[in-house]
Amino acid sequence: MNIFRLIQGQWGLTRDAEFRKDPWYILAANRVVDAGFGKPPKGFFSNKLDEGVIIPGLVNSHSHIELSSLKDKISPGSGIVEMARRIQAERAKISDIDIRNAAITAVQEARSFGTFYFCDTINDTEFASFIKGLPAFHGNRYLELLGFKNPSDSERIAKIKPMLEEDMTLLPTIHSVYGSSPTLMNFVREKARSTSISFHLLESPEEIDFMHNTGAIVDFLKSINQYTQHREMSNKSIVDYLNQMGMLSFKKLLLVHLSSARREGIAELNELIPHAAWVLCHRSNKHLGIERTNWEALKLSPMKLLLGTDSLATAPNLSILHEMRAIEQTNHFSTSELWKAATYDAYEYLEISTSRIPYYFFPGALPEISSMCQVRAQELI
Ligand SMILES: [Zn+2]
Repeated sequence: MNIFRLIQGQWGLTRDAEFRKDPWYILAANRVVDAGFGKPPKGFFSNKLDEGVIIPGLVNSHSHIELSSLKDKISPGSGIVEMARRIQAERAKISDIDIRNAAITAVQEARSFGTFYFCDTINDTEFASFIKGLPAFHGNRYLELLGFKNPSDSERIAKIKPMLEEDMTLLPTIHSVYGSSPTLMNFVREKARSTSISFHLLESPEEIDFMHNTGAIVDFLKSINQYTQHREMSNKSIVDYLNQMGMLSFKKLLLVHLSSARREGIAELNELIPHAAWVLCHRSNKHLGIERTNWEALKLSPMKLLLGTDSLATAPNLSILHEMRAIEQTNHFSTSELWKAATYDAYEYLEISTSRIPYYFFPGALPEISSMCQVRAQELI
């Protein structure tokens, strides 16, 4: 008996991220083993699908699934400091079971529009174990070591160490220059530099003020008793500080946002870490009222563009297809560039094995992002 079967469709995505007619896929039990366009190979049990579009699964390169229960809790135009304040206040009110149920719903919703892989940043160690065991979850889990003021650092590290030793797929990371202290950075660097790191960088202009010991982030940290002046930071730009701390010496870096990065900062990053990726979470930036003016500088950067959503606190869902629709409307990237960022560039950068990639069928859809956003996808395998 032939263990393979062949599926033919109407529209499929090419490796160059363009749509072409008459795709075919050879499926083994749980993966696509070969694919092409035009006349399919003979000798297989064949199944022709109705009209519609077939794509390989999409990658969400930055999410916080743990915050899914905070949907609609952050008002538009809040900015990052008000967001941080609200997240802190709201989280305390929500039970673990509600956090987990909201997480499951959010992952399933994203999957029903073709998003199958997440680079997820987690703050709570128990949630990190929960999401690992969730059958619908695939992806990288980054455990964020949050805390800017020293006294509790050693306690935090001591708590986290055994967990990282036991669970090698859990990657420690920092939150941002204002969310993690130099001591936490040192720990993360020594633990994870040969793997990858994912952190928020230059999401808002307030981060630049912060490096000068002033502004809304300083006020916020003071209000939660988390502010101190670290000597490592004095008189440095954000990029210089991170570089001096060894936080740019990682095999892979996911620099999330860069929405407020200026031309000179981007030039420095290009020089120091051309092998990094930057993650665009456009809907989240818009929701917080952050306007990006560096589109062209980032388009010219050697750093790889990947796409993320951030959390449901600031984005309506974790679906990368919907994120692509929002970015497409800005006219800053071609549709093909967006498809690449959501599929083949992400697979390559994140080293996602082709055998792990599911394929999705959007019945009745045209090969256009906006049309595909209108229908729920079926998983082919
Ligand atoms: Zn984030």
